[in-house]
Amino acid sequence: STSSAYRGRFAPSPTGPLHFGSLVAAVGSYLEAKHHDGEWLVRIEDLDTPRTVSGASSSILNVLEKLGMEWDGVVVYQSQRNKIYQNALASLERQGLIYSCQCSRKEIADSSIRGIGGLIYPGTCRNHSYALEQSSASRIQTTNDPISFKDRLQGLICQRLNSDIGDFVLRRADGIYAYQLAVVVDDAEQQITHVVRGSDLLGSTPRQIYLQQLLNYITPVYMHLPLVMSQTGEKLSKQTYAAPIDLINALSQLVAAARFLGQEPPIELLKSDVSSFWQWAIKNWQSHKIPPSSLR
Ligand code: GLU
Repeated sequence: STSSAYRGRFAPSPTGPLHFGSLVAAVGSYLEAKHHDGEWLVRIEDLDTPRTVSGASSSILNVLEKLGMEWDGVVVYQSQRNKIYQNALASLERQGLIYSCQCSRKEIADSSIRGIGGLIYPGTCRNHSYALEQSSASRIQTTNDPISFKDRLQGLICQRLNSDIGDFVLRRADGIYAYQLAVVVDDAEQQITHVVRGSDLLGSTPRQIYLQQLLNYITPVYMHLPLVMSQTGEKLSKQTYAAPIDLINALSQLVAAARFLGQEPPIELLKSDVSSFWQWAIKNWQSHKIPPSSLR
């Protein structure tokens, strides 16, 4: 592959400040892109307005900038792109794949079994043929044709969507487009060739590939990074009160993120500066050294 063909991205949800877990995803996607002489785009995934924290996107962008991580092009905000998601959903509707789901939360909980990605919706509303309306959720029909892909770090992944996941929501009853739809539309629109992100999204990838196939999009290359765990063994996140990245220790946090990703920055780097760190890290990046999972 030619080096200029690489286009990666970092797509944070602005539900709080950048913490060490999201920094690892940012650093991993950045180094993988820059090592390949590629571009690195930033997209703010602020569709889930009830979860969005005001000021979080500008704080995330400010920290990236202070850490010396320059993005290419303009920052894309999903909250400004409803029209684009609506068009994609319309195209799936024309294919006869979308149905209106009127189940309540309770009905779903009572009728579904728990799978790897949460509750497996049994397709209750699939045959009701309710008219598609704004006030109810829109789901897409899935099949049991196996969907597989080779993750650069996690190896071969295969799912049968209907039995592993169930028909999934593309637009919620509150009108908010689902992450699964928006991420697929934006990765295609922004011509992302390589997706590097946390392993918490590994199980979402077959759903995304399914949508890419139906929308005639190219499937990017995927690499799912090990997750940073808290002391208590949960994924480090805003929900587990992960500490925000402190710019006072910018350099040591970058070095720690590189170490977490299996890289071996020389100890002297800690006495240098952020720009020397990047110079070293881009040049010496070795993705085969990344441990597939954080369990050691
Ligand atoms: N916005 C998602 C998150 O912060 C990441 C989406 C992605 O990288 O595909 O967890």
